[in-house]
Amino acid sequence: MNVNERAVQAVEDGRRWFPANTNLAHDALSLCGEAGEVANIVKKIDRGTHTLDEMMVRLVDEVVDVQTYLYEIMGLINEAHEKKYGMPVDWDAAYDSKRQVNERRFGLVKDIWVQHGSNKES
Ligand SMILES: [Mg+2]
Repeated sequence: MNVNERAVQAVEDGRRWFPANTNLAHDALSLCGEAGEVANIVKKIDRGTHTLDEMMVRLVDEVVDVQTYLYEIMGLINEAHEKKYGMPVDWDAAYDSKRQVNERRFGLVKDIWVQHGSNKES
């Protein structure tokens, strides 16, 4: 199953499971809520009260919740994109394009830091 197929499936699941709440606004809020659950687990690992090994199953579960809402958002955007342009977003191409932008923006800066012996990465 490719990215667009998962996006379609996520929207279909959302409409069956939560028909009143499958829309961009609600899904964006849900995505943030699930990202917060990931952050809370990572916080516990970072402060040393839990280990990554202890939290691995829950962490994977919460990351998949994030992934689910992200796919659902992508699917809803695809529907609007198809209505306007007659085709879904090419998410792989969009990712590759954005990665190139980030590489030009951040990769070069990091290369300069390495050349000057700094490990600063903020
Ligand atoms: Mg969750």
